[in-house]
Amino acid sequence: MIRSITQQKPMAEIIGHCEGASKVFIVGCGTCTTLTRTGGQPEVVKMADRLREANKEVTGWMVLPVACDELTSEALEENRDAIAGADTLLIMTCAFGVQTIAMHIDKPVVPALDTLFIGKEKAPGLFGEICVQCGECVLADTGGICPVAGCHKGMVNGPCGGTNKGKCEIDSNKDCVWTLIYEKLEKLGRLDRMRAYQPPKNYHVEPRPGRIIIPFDARSEDDGTKL
Ligand code: SF4
Ligand code: SF4
Repeated sequence: MIRSITQQKPMAEIIGHCEGASKVFIVGCGTCTTLTRTGGQPEVVKMADRLREANKEVTGWMVLPVACDELTSEALEENRDAIAGADTLLIMTCAFGVQTIAMHIDKPVVPALDTLFIGKEKAPGLFGEICVQCGECVLADTGGICPVAGCHKGMVNGPCGGTNKGKCEIDSNKDCVWTLIYEKLEKLGRLDRMRAYQPPKNYHVEPRPGRIIIPFDARSEDDGTKL
């Protein structure tokens, strides 16, 4: 499953952002930050203790099922009084959750986590980035393995000259993604794709902020898609 990968900010920074707030309500997420152990129930409870040690009053806490989805507003309602009694909300979700909560609550929100990348758990406790949403997908030529996210240099025509016995020259603990691509294409009988030239990436293909409008007739009536 794809996850938003986060890590906790230093406690001093969190306390600094809460300066002037004596009462804090803490929000975690039952999905990505529970999996990465950065904002599930144990981490939220621990954070509450640490805030109390810093002389903050914790008016309450909750772990939303999925902080970034449409039901967040209703879930927050369940703790309306405790939230109303807080000066600030400390959010232990990814940045998508922080922004979703900020849309529904007229209180200052403080992210307790840094959102690093969208990734996948490749082995227990090991999370890797698999797509940087570059807007020009080359997976058809790379055996479904992303060189943009997987290569330290983002090379779409690889490998670079530094690849060494299948390892990356930048991090020798890491497989060179172009070796992985070669092995996959070999398995698929499509090694000819190694010679497919990819033009330099056009990083202006989807300027920030990203925005796309899907024509109404292109959407299924019951898929819930909203603009
Ligand atoms: S090439 Fe890689 S970064 Fe770009 S869209 Fe495809 S998977 Fe994502
Ligand atoms: S060794 Fe491979 S993964 Fe590392 S920078 Fe070169 S091409 Fe990219």
